Amino acid sequence: MDIDLQVRIAAFNWLSEQVNSQGDVLPRKLLESGFDFQGQRIPLVAPQGIFKPQILDLPLSITTAPKGPYDDYFGKDNFLIYRYRGTDPNHRDNGGLRKVFELKRPLVYFHGIEPGKYLATYPVYIIGDDPSNLTFKVAVDDAIPVYEPAETNFARQVAEVSDARHAYLTSTVKIRLRQRSFREKVLDAYKSQCAFCRLKHRELLDAAHIIPDNLPEGKSTIENGLSLCKLHHAAYDSFLIGVTPDYIIHVREDILEEEDGPVLQHGLKGLHRTKLILPVSKDKYPSKDALDWRYSRFTKAS
Ligand SMILES: [Zn+2]
Repeated sequence: MDIDLQVRIAAFNWLSEQVNSQGDVLPRKLLESGFDFQGQRIPLVAPQGIFKPQILDLPLSITTAPKGPYDDYFGKDNFLIYRYRGTDPNHRDNGGLRKVFELKRPLVYFHGIEPGKYLATYPVYIIGDDPSNLTFKVAVDDAIPVYEPAETNFARQVAEVSDARHAYLTSTVKIRLRQRSFREKVLDAYKSQCAFCRLKHRELLDAAHIIPDNLPEGKSTIENGLSLCKLHHAAYDSFLIGVTPDYIIHVREDILEEEDGPVLQHGLKGLHRTKLILPVSKDKYPSKDALDWRYSRFTKAS
């Protein structure tokens, strides 16, 4: 196997380890310091969007900065649109990416969801080059099984290129971007603590929607979000707990009457009539209209 593929596979494997241990939103510092390949440090990002580490002749990753609505990054056909570097189609970086396209080499795509935080997607392939619009078209493929002999695996994947499958897989990135960005924004607004119980372990926290996101009004915005631990997210979603528009927590009556161990006592019953823990800045408070909408459903369920 040539060194180019070896490094790409090592990069995917390393990323998979990071994603498994800390989720798929990765800090930029980690990506800048990169991974060890046969005694050599290989970073995964640099200030420019199209990144080629020293050890390779061709780019290894493409990155978009955190700005603008996600729709801007997707074409009508749901594939990712990646802008050239500058306006010269033959700039070294654009030429490198074109070569990656010709050779069907897999890349990593990093999407900035907020400053210093990136959602990693890999492998992605360049499937189109549009010099008149100064863009490349990018498709996402399935994650590569780590232990499969990689060369045969790539050959198989590239041979199996199916537009429909790639369009579907690529469209899931948009959903992931929205979800991860929602989580980061809401957890940051609440300083990484549960708005009910103050638990401060980010790995145990979710961003809960006040109006569920399967409804048209259920926007993935900070005002429609609450930072909740896993237990309280589930309790809120199943109407065991409600929150009034004045930020007072209510526990369902039949729960209050139950007698059981300490989790029920402290984790649920103890919250009754306590005040929601709110974000520091007022403009990030949960929407009173959304809370009202949700609380009226809670009282109906009680
Ligand atoms: Zn909690």
